[in-house]
Amino acid sequence: MSLNTSRRSLLRGRPGPNPSRRPPWTGLDFTDQCTRCGDCVSACPEQVLFKGDGGFPEIRFGEGECTFCQACADVCEAPVFDLTRKAFPWHATPVQPCLALNNIHCQSCQDACDAAAVKFRPALGHVPRPEVDPDLCTGCGACVSVCPVDGLGLEDASVQV
Ligand code: SF4
Ligand code: SF4
Ligand code: SF4
Repeated sequence: MSLNTSRRSLLRGRPGPNPSRRPPWTGLDFTDQCTRCGDCVSACPEQVLFKGDGGFPEIRFGEGECTFCQACADVCEAPVFDLTRKAFPWHATPVQPCLALNNIHCQSCQDACDAAAVKFRPALGHVPRPEVDPDLCTGCGACVSVCPVDGLGLEDASVQV
């Protein structure tokens, strides 16, 4: 599995905390069914799909988010996308070097989250720290893309990495 190489991370000369991930609504049989045609990569209006390891498409949130527009699923001629499954098996989780975890005020991830999954709890002697409700988080990556310091990881809720 290759690592996320967002522009911010590249500028710092190190990889981000989030490994590259497969496109939405794809399952464990993804690499068996995908023909590596790249049609979904070209179709994604948010440009969050890239040709990754072995030419298979992968999603990276370094510069944007998935809006669940379904353009990738609509264009694909192989039986890769199954819209009846949950789009992503992961949820966001604050990790080092999150600014708030280091007592520096920041709430950018909360502002970016349409699902209202990010909450900031007041803490004695510390700036409020982010918490992500895994039941509300859609895994869209909006918070990942706006975080100034790669302070959000993606934690898998299942083994479907
Ligand atoms: S659902 Fe839309 S935004 Fe998300 S990866 Fe597919 S084409 Fe891109
Ligand atoms: S945007 Fe990033 S640095 Fe700011 S509070 Fe959220 S996770 Fe931490
Ligand atoms: S991944 Fe999307 S839904 Fe989840 S916390 Fe981040 S912005 Fe909210």
